[in-house]
Amino acid sequence: MAKFNGLNPVVVQALNNLQYRYSGETPEMWCSCVRYPFKKLLEYNPKYFSKNGFIQMVEREYIDGEFKAGRRSFNIYCTVCDSLVFICENTIKCVSDHLNKCIARMAKKNFAYSIHT
Ligand SMILES: [Zn+2]
Repeated sequence: MAKFNGLNPVVVQALNNLQYRYSGETPEMWCSCVRYPFKKLLEYNPKYFSKNGFIQMVEREYIDGEFKAGRRSFNIYCTVCDSLVFICENTIKCVSDHLNKCIARMAKKNFAYSIHT
């Protein structure tokens, strides 16, 4: 999630808040909490996002009496496969690779479906 230019600040804030995993939350719990609101945010802002997207889980760290954004985790929620995905490397490239593979797989599936009906 990097292209925030011109996006409503309320939406940016909402996206930022969604990324954080709260203490005691498992990645699965995080995923079930972000799934619905994240999809809605993508849907309501078609100018800024394509239908397919992902959100990467960010750990929160408690430093000097304040919560700060910690490191990005290896977990992402992908809207294409609608699941929690564990990426092999904590890089944007690895996340994009997953997303692209997912989109290609879905496109193939839809194609197979359309030629059989
Ligand atoms: Zn996926």
